[in-house]
Amino acid sequence: MSEINVQLNDGVAAQMAGPITVGEALKKLDRDTAKQALAARVNGREVDLAFTLEESNGEPVKIEPVLPETLEGLDVLRHSTAHLLAAAVLDLYPGTQLGIGPALLEDPRYGFFYDVIAPVVLTEADLSLIEKRMRQIASRNLAYRRDEIPKAEALRLFKERDEPLKCELIDEKAGETVSVYYIDNSPFIDFCLGPHVPNTNKLRAFKLLSLAGAYWKGDAENPQMQRIYGTAFFSQEQLDAWLKQREEAEKRDHRRLGRELDLFSIQDAYGQGLVMWHPKGGAIRREMEDYLRQQLAQRGYGLVFTPHIAKRELWQKSGHEQNYADVMFAPTELEETQFRLKPMNCPFHIGIYKSAQHSYRDLPLRYAELGTCYRAELSGTLHGLMRVRGFTQDDAHIFCTPETVRTEIVSCIDFAFALLGAFGFEKFKIELSVRGADTTKKYLGSDENWQHAEEALVDALKGQGLEYERMEDEAAFYGPKIDIKVEDAIGRFWQLTTVQFDFNLPERFELEYTGEDNKPHRPIMIHRALFGSMERFFGVLIEHYAGAFPMWLAPVQVAVLPITDRINDYAEKVASELRSGGLRVGTNLKSEKIGAKIRDAQMQKTPFMVVLGDREMEQGIVAVRERLKGDIGVMSIEEFRTMARNLIEKRALTNA
Ligand SMILES: [Zn+2]
Ligand SMILES: [Zn+2]
Repeated sequence: MSEINVQLNDGVAAQMAGPITVGEALKKLDRDTAKQALAARVNGREVDLAFTLEESNGEPVKIEPVLPETLEGLDVLRHSTAHLLAAAVLDLYPGTQLGIGPALLEDPRYGFFYDVIAPVVLTEADLSLIEKRMRQIASRNLAYRRDEIPKAEALRLFKERDEPLKCELIDEKAGETVSVYYIDNSPFIDFCLGPHVPNTNKLRAFKLLSLAGAYWKGDAENPQMQRIYGTAFFSQEQLDAWLKQREEAEKRDHRRLGRELDLFSIQDAYGQGLVMWHPKGGAIRREMEDYLRQQLAQRGYGLVFTPHIAKRELWQKSGHEQNYADVMFAPTELEETQFRLKPMNCPFHIGIYKSAQHSYRDLPLRYAELGTCYRAELSGTLHGLMRVRGFTQDDAHIFCTPETVRTEIVSCIDFAFALLGAFGFEKFKIELSVRGADTTKKYLGSDENWQHAEEALVDALKGQGLEYERMEDEAAFYGPKIDIKVEDAIGRFWQLTTVQFDFNLPERFELEYTGEDNKPHRPIMIHRALFGSMERFFGVLIEHYAGAFPMWLAPVQVAVLPITDRINDYAEKVASELRSGGLRVGTNLKSEKIGAKIRDAQMQKTPFMVVLGDREMEQGIVAVRERLKGDIGVMSIEEFRTMARNLIEKRALTNA
């Protein structure tokens, strides 16, 4: 028997007689914490609570419990639930082969999955059966048990179980000894490093969500598998709230609304991840661009236009070919010169800067562009408008002196708030991503540069009284940055705006300006995008408004609806008068009942309808309906036009 010096986090420490498990040691240090713990870190290494502590020559062994309501805890919980799922599948369908079953923490749709090849093809109907079996197993409070066995034995074990995929993984990934996990008294065995919850009754709030096809290792040449998706939370309340939000998110899915409202399409025949904006989506795009251009002019930006491709050497010089090779489309050749599609606009703006000499008096120079870029994203990562292969950034690059950099950052943030506010976002989260303690390898630029840049960003945020979260080791390799996330109508956060320092490109391209001292200096370069990409912002906007856009953004602002065919001429006249007043107007001249026409306009989420019958025609007036309020009375065409114009010019977010 030996004595072990055990310390809880950075707090209480005690001598204990060994050998002792982490769970028992925790109990001695803090009973409440021990009860809650899902797993622990021992001297930084993640382990199960059943892990046996070893002597460490008098040095304290540091235990940090992994607790509920933390990201690490969620990871352990969901990972363990994925194993519970596998146990239930093995129980119900003996002979099932297991693939991989990771926890998903970033995916808004799922919390974990398991890939399986069952002896029967599973259907959605089987999910409730499997979930029920998971509950039965969980309620038996079975222990997760880890074993370390020699590689040869592990291979024999999984071969006996007829699990060639696991053998393949062990062959590739395991060392001399293999870590395997059992759920006691269940058919479950898996090759896994853990950690897991100590027993199944820690798993109380989970749900299976859907089935999808998958390939072993994501390769279509490999055996086809079925992927079972589910999620898990620490409490039923959390799970219920999440399910409700998911249902709401599904109703707002921009891909569905994009189709129903005829806003855009992405067609396989033209290429995945390539967006076509239809006239109705185009109307919204134009409003986005008009707003942006107006603001750019007011805020002293120069609008530039640059090509979609450039010589390959340019991308080598900029470092994009080295750092972004995997997202760049392959080169194409003409007359022995190679060209590549642009993944970013930056080098072009640098080209414009370099085309002339600059003195400190010329700076800051602000070049803005709605620049269309192309990235070779893999098909599996594409998602509607949110992740695409061709997109237009509302990009800008600001070249400034160290003296003016803080002012420039403040005005970028001010610009972002004005723009995001105009489109109806009121709540923001700001993240400051810095290099952190890692001052070496992957970050380019001198310590002095990093320090100055960080100070400028912090100054700018504090000077504006803005709260922010500091993200250590999250900076871009070329400089620190500020990211702004917006909260949408159902409480989800989307990262849109980014303001980034760059020490790298000014060096690579040897940018200069003449200072007050008549000597050459290197300018500071800021990259910034406010919408981010037009496509993604459009996707967020569709989901935020659930397709019911405010008047100024609505693709069709007014639907003109005659009650009978004999009113059609008057309807055309009203429509044309409204159009000449700058409104986007649709007419429905079909021989349909007026009720059907109103319903149709409601489905299209058109903000206003004007309903025209004999009386309206005789008196030259319109009867107006508002989308939410219904009938709001009759008025002259001019009165209606003025009211509508007012809402549009104010960029009102509601018609109240
Ligand atoms: Zn595991
Ligand atoms: Zn850039």
